[in-house]
Amino acid sequence: MSEEVKPESVSLCPVSIATNPERELLCIFGTGDLGRSLGQRLLQSGYRLVYGSRRPHSCGPLPPGAQVLSHEAAAQSASLIFLCVHREHYEFLESLAPQLKDKVLVDVSNNLKKNLYPEANAEYLQRLIPRAMVVKAFNTLSAWALQNGPSDANRQVYLCGNSTTAKQAVADIATKLGFTVLDRGSLSAARELEDFPLQLFPEWRLPIRLAFGLTAFFFFYLLIRDVVYAYVQEGKDNSFRIMVSLANKVFPIVSLIMLALCYLPGVIAAFLQLYRGTKYKRFPDWLDRWMLCRKQMGLLALAFASLHVLYTLIIPIRYYVRYRLAANTISQIMENKTSKFDTTMAWRTDSYYSVGILGFGLYLLLGISSLPSVSNALSWREFTFIQSKLGYLTLFICTFHTYLYGWDKFLHKYKWYMPPSYMLCLVVPSMVLLLKLLLLLPCVDKSLTHIRQGWERTDPEDATRKSLLT
Ligand code: NAP
Repeated sequence: MSEEVKPESVSLCPVSIATNPERELLCIFGTGDLGRSLGQRLLQSGYRLVYGSRRPHSCGPLPPGAQVLSHEAAAQSASLIFLCVHREHYEFLESLAPQLKDKVLVDVSNNLKKNLYPEANAEYLQRLIPRAMVVKAFNTLSAWALQNGPSDANRQVYLCGNSTTAKQAVADIATKLGFTVLDRGSLSAARELEDFPLQLFPEWRLPIRLAFGLTAFFFFYLLIRDVVYAYVQEGKDNSFRIMVSLANKVFPIVSLIMLALCYLPGVIAAFLQLYRGTKYKRFPDWLDRWMLCRKQMGLLALAFASLHVLYTLIIPIRYYVRYRLAANTISQIMENKTSKFDTTMAWRTDSYYSVGILGFGLYLLLGISSLPSVSNALSWREFTFIQSKLGYLTLFICTFHTYLYGWDKFLHKYKWYMPPSYMLCLVVPSMVLLLKLLLLLPCVDKSLTHIRQGWERTDPEDATRKSLLT
């Protein structure tokens, strides 16, 4: 039996390097922040690297193992060049046109503002060096992210370009660095890629504006009802209520309305499909935009609900509450009276709190399941079950919680003809639940399911017109 010979040492270099001793040489123009971080990752991934710099002998510290040459010499040595230089300095490349001919030029540049230049940086570069193959890539990653390796949010490298071979070469490098490549097509998509890093929460704008508007409206509404009214009519100074009582009324109101507004566009869309008898007609733009920001609306609603929970927890330690409690107890002792235990009140408050806690629990579940790491692990059916069925249940429970709060105080307690705020906040959620109930009626549900499976109702007028034409 032959004895197995164990090697005394193990090679730690990547398999690709071990099998291919001639490692690919890449070039980076620019020894700034991005140039250094990208260079370090390329060297770690097994590439050889040469920098092209204006000052090859006096540039700052560079990753060990890299060579620094003049632009001209560096460009001649590699077939793929990363341009880690700001667009404003691209003119110097024109004089290097002969050396850059047929080379792959990776444009990583971004701008400070959208539409700063009439054409995308990558298109401008292609115009400067028409015989090079320009690929737009890596611009959505920061120098910091490159240094720290791909994390969840920074796993993707978007690229675009007119040459398939050039894009493939860049895609191979990105994959080797540990990124997922997303090809966005030809160089005409460069402007879109350059706009990505400049986006400022586009899906959050509408929900934030809405939350801000609702908060401001209900704050002033309650200020007039609870503070100004008491001052004018009863001469009482209730202004201290602004900090906790008012806030703790505004937050749940905004939360409930925002949650209802998450489900309202779905219901409107369903009725629109029923009315049109087809799912193949586009929704109006406003409805499309509304549907696209439902997740953000739901997360904001959850944030307001969390504030309501926190504010409710501090109620027992408030000076005002402790004072009222002590004053009530003392007055009962002095008058030698005991208030009777009110079972109905006990039922009411317990149910109100219990339903509130249940609603908040479901709210949290909805929020957690909308996180990408969680939703990615769910099947489509599981995700829609949580977001739709449990979502409506959450809306129902939170609405019920508010009805319990109102209890027997509905339709009275008007001040200056202004109804209590909880009555106002119940309008949208009750309407959404009612409309959803209508959609759940077997005959309506059947028609909607048919339409969503592709069935179309033919318009009798259209049919007659068609037959006349034929
Ligand atoms: P930087 O730190 O300012 O470095 C730019 C480099 O360009 C300089 O170190 C210099 O290298 C070279 N340079 C400066 N003036 C020049 C000129 N007149 N002619 C030729 N070369 C010149 O900038 P950076 O942060 O690395 O960004 C470089 C590019 O990457 C920009 O287009 C930026 O939009 C893009 N980007 C940056 C990041 C980031 O996180 N930093 C992220 C995505 C995209 P030499 O002295 O060696 O010539």
